[in-house]
Amino acid sequence: MTIFHKIIRREIPADIVFEDDHVIAFRDIAPQAPVHVLFVPKQDFATLNDVPAESPEIVGRLAVAAARYAREQGFAEDGYRIVMNCNSDGGQTVFQIHLHLLAGAPLGRFGTP
Ligand code: 5GP
Repeated sequence: MTIFHKIIRREIPADIVFEDDHVIAFRDIAPQAPVHVLFVPKQDFATLNDVPAESPEIVGRLAVAAARYAREQGFAEDGYRIVMNCNSDGGQTVFQIHLHLLAGAPLGRFGTP
């Protein structure tokens, strides 16, 4: 069980901004941009490697929920970045898949310090 499962089960608090039957989204505890929200499926997958080929909708639901949130919050046109880290080289630290949504300022070119 990860910290995100505990958030899904309301065992620890989080600033939840969206939830439906499949996805929960809450603000990152250590934001890397003015807007930093994590979109997490309720179904268990430790990493992107664990999502079966026959279940691509899991990842699609995260992306569509992030885009809808961007539209609703009014920054879709200015833009945003979505990121999913995988395993150690990707910098993943919580082993329940999640999509980072970063926005609210120009983020610079991806990969530059
Ligand atoms: P990863 O490094 O696995 O891609 O992303 C994990 C993210 O979860 C990090 O950005 C980290 O700040 C965030 N995080 C870790 N623990 C908590 C927590 O207890 N609550 C919230 N809201 N975010 C967390």
